[in-house]
Amino acid sequence: MVEVREWTRSDTSRYFRAPAAEDDKYTRGVVALRTGSAAYPGAAVLGVEAAWRTGAGFVRYVGEERAADAVLARRPETVVGADAGRSRVDAWVIGSGTDPALRTDAESVALREILAGSVPVVIDAGALDLAPGARAPFLITPHAREFARLQERLRLQPGGERAEGARQVAANIGGTVLLKGARTLVAAPDGTTFAIEAGTGWLATAGTGDVLAGVLGAVTAANPDAPLAEIAAAGAWVHGHAARIAADVTAGSPGHPIVALDVAAALPPAIA
Ligand code: AMP
Ligand code: MG
Repeated sequence: MVEVREWTRSDTSRYFRAPAAEDDKYTRGVVALRTGSAAYPGAAVLGVEAAWRTGAGFVRYVGEERAADAVLARRPETVVGADAGRSRVDAWVIGSGTDPALRTDAESVALREILAGSVPVVIDAGALDLAPGARAPFLITPHAREFARLQERLRLQPGGERAEGARQVAANIGGTVLLKGARTLVAAPDGTTFAIEAGTGWLATAGTGDVLAGVLGAVTAANPDAPLAEIAAAGAWVHGHAARIAADVTAGSPGHPIVALDVAAALPPAIA
């Protein structure tokens, strides 16, 4: 059996500090997202919104016109455009709301360039197949089906115990694995493993994973020297707490339905 440590509220608090007098928008973390697509523009909006609501000082977005327009309509604070790739970036988020079967060659080249760099990358959904071989420090965020697909790709046995599987994949690809579920597991390549309980099944709704990716981008950007496994666990904890707040989950009540944007809106009180 793999040793798994339960990640707590007080563990999480270490990764959310209030801005100091000498901080500016850049020192608080610059997040860049290359997410969403013509088919799934909403994923771009959700990730951008979550990055802002997690306290990023600056959020950049690069993506298809339809997605970029949706991002600007929702969050005019966002700096949109291809130039984002040449400006300061402290963390990348890629893949949410994209389909690898529809990826153009130009898009593959751009993603591989990000993965060959030195800025940490949160790799979600449609970009998961590009994680093996990445040189940048990275964190992958598969749900159960995406994880099984990745295991097959790596010729590892799918099924089996989740923590053991997450550790195997992390060691195999040399990156941190955040395996989503009601009980989310985070495994580092060195075998360190954390568990985070979401605490509400209302999170099981479309788009909440895109919100999580944005949260992780912002926590990564704000904590450049922290181990990615701890960043991942802290982000997952805050995401779960935001869902509990949004759904009004209390000791006496299982709460009520929510949508992904509700989770993003509850990030500030969750962080507080
Ligand atoms: P995705 O599948 O990418 O949209 O991500 C779904 C998000 O919801 C992840 O953060 C999961 O951990 C969370 N989630 C999914 N199902 C459940 C569940 N039954 N209970 C709690 N959280 C869940
Ligand atoms: Mg997803």
